Amino acid sequence: MEEWIILAAAMLAAGCVAGVLAGLFGIGGGIVIVPVLDTVLSILEVDAAIRMHVAVATSLATIIPTSIASARAHHKRGAVDLAIVKRWAIYVFAGAILGAWIASQLHSRVLAIIFATLALVIALKMIFLPDARNLTEEVPRRFWVPVIPAFIGCVSSMMGIGGGTFSVMTLTLFNTPIHRAVGTAALLGLVISVPGTIAFIVTGFNDVRVPPGSLGYVNLIGLAFIAPTTVLCAPLGAKLAHGISAKRLSMLFGLFLLIAAGRLAFSQEALEPDAPFDCYSCDEWNQPQPPFHIFGNTYYVGVAGIAVILIDAGSELVLIDGGLSQSAEIVADNIRELGFDPLKVSTIAVSHAHYDHVGGVNALQKYSGAQVLSSEHGVRALRAGDLMPDDPLYGHGFDNRSFPAVQNVDVIADGDVQHVGNTAIVGIYTPGHTPGGMSWTWNTCEEQRCLDIVYADSISAVSADEYSFTTGLGEQLNASAERIASLDCDILLVTHPFLFEMKEKHAQGRESFIDASACKDYGQKSLEQLQERLASE
Ligand SMILES: [Zn+2]
Repeated sequence: MEEWIILAAAMLAAGCVAGVLAGLFGIGGGIVIVPVLDTVLSILEVDAAIRMHVAVATSLATIIPTSIASARAHHKRGAVDLAIVKRWAIYVFAGAILGAWIASQLHSRVLAIIFATLALVIALKMIFLPDARNLTEEVPRRFWVPVIPAFIGCVSSMMGIGGGTFSVMTLTLFNTPIHRAVGTAALLGLVISVPGTIAFIVTGFNDVRVPPGSLGYVNLIGLAFIAPTTVLCAPLGAKLAHGISAKRLSMLFGLFLLIAAGRLAFSQEALEPDAPFDCYSCDEWNQPQPPFHIFGNTYYVGVAGIAVILIDAGSELVLIDGGLSQSAEIVADNIRELGFDPLKVSTIAVSHAHYDHVGGVNALQKYSGAQVLSSEHGVRALRAGDLMPDDPLYGHGFDNRSFPAVQNVDVIADGDVQHVGNTAIVGIYTPGHTPGGMSWTWNTCEEQRCLDIVYADSISAVSADEYSFTTGLGEQLNASAERIASLDCDILLVTHPFLFEMKEKHAQGRESFIDASACKDYGQKSLEQLQERLASE
């Protein structure tokens, strides 16, 4: 509750500062609202991959009422150059739609870096060139008519700003008197914010990651907090403008922008790990393990006792499993150590939803914005962040078995092929250890040598004391073990390194991972263990 009050206050304050700036500089205020909203959304744990989209879209929506109010006021004083608006409107409009579409295609991080760069350029201009000279004697025509306004519209809607900053800068560069530039910019702001907002509503309509109270990427709660104070505080800015010299104001604003740009450029750099999970073997499992190349596009990036596999699919990366919640940062570091960017992970495939394999998935997913893949049963457990009642471990002993719930999870059916970058990974449904277990297989080549790699799920009959595999998952476990034993398999990788003798093989050299009978042996061993278990029930 207290957190909510602080966040609400932050948004009200941002609205007011944006309003003051609108009155002061004739800008829409998005340059203030976007960084504040981004911070508020990160505190509310909104998915990092779309945080900037929500901030930008909501900011654009708040600009609609501001620019209407501002344009009307300026029009009364005859400060709107309708000739320019008429010539530019259609291009600004088209640019705004294009900008919103481009933004929806980019990762939040990319959007944030573009925003920060832009803010930096404007900041430096305002600090060091508070009264820059004109480029031309009058606003250019002919060829430049479509180019300049389309660019203003595109970049402004992409950044969630009304375009005031750009329009005023551009118009004054072309020798338009400052008051006329501000007035004209206010009306152009409307031409940007209306189509931009609509485009963000449309492109975000089916995105399930948006926070509550959102229409597409536009968050109505944020809008309700920010828009009224923006309008209310705008006259204050106009009043203030007369109190300070334009030059000093320009420099002050530049300094503010500099801070905002810095924050945006660096704040999202870090992965935000979930609370560490405490268990008997966790510390031993979570010992760091130097990452290494296995074969072709496949690398080991997990910890000493829990496997995490990286597939380099060219333009994108695939991760299989995420280890414990305290493994997430180690995994991201391991990926970097191999020379890859963990932000490029676009798919996280999951073996089974137990805390030791999916505990780190939530943090890695939020960081990279990846899509998580699991079986239908697995998806239920992942979304709940806990064991389902039909899990053999359900109710097992002393440990709390919950893990951070995972968002943006999709179901993959048995035998389905998932194409990621240049790689096709196949999901093999292997229930038994859990009701939702999946194994994964893909083919990768080094020169002319192409091998099938299998990442096999756990197929051990481990359960809570009262559980019976005879009446429970025994039959499915049996089928899964036989299925894994029969797979085309040159290299076997398993959820825990000891299950495929990783340490020994790694010490012997890369070739020792290649073993055409490994899957067969693994399945066979599990079948024997299951028979023992069933006999003892
Ligand atoms: Zn397990």
